[in-house]
Amino acid sequence: MTSPAAEGKTPDDLFGFTRQRKKSAGRRVLMHVIDAGDHGCVSDDAGIAVYKCGRCGHETDWTPFRTFTEAKRGIPCPKCNPTTPQASP
Ligand SMILES: [Zn+2]
Repeated sequence: MTSPAAEGKTPDDLFGFTRQRKKSAGRRVLMHVIDAGDHGCVSDDAGIAVYKCGRCGHETDWTPFRTFTEAKRGIPCPKCNPTTPQASP
């Protein structure tokens, strides 16, 4: 006596629906700090940094960041990550 439902079923199969990934969003391309500096004045920001995208080479102007963790993590590239999903007219 066999139970077809129990055969060949791995946890992945049984719970596959929990492992679905939303591929529509894709991976965000992050820009990383290539230069960082100080404001030279007292402000809420920790400093300013220039980010560069390793994919398209886009560079930002000096951009203020609030924490070094935030700066090290990088910011989404505006060119590789369109912020407006709306179709162009
Ligand atoms: Zn880019």
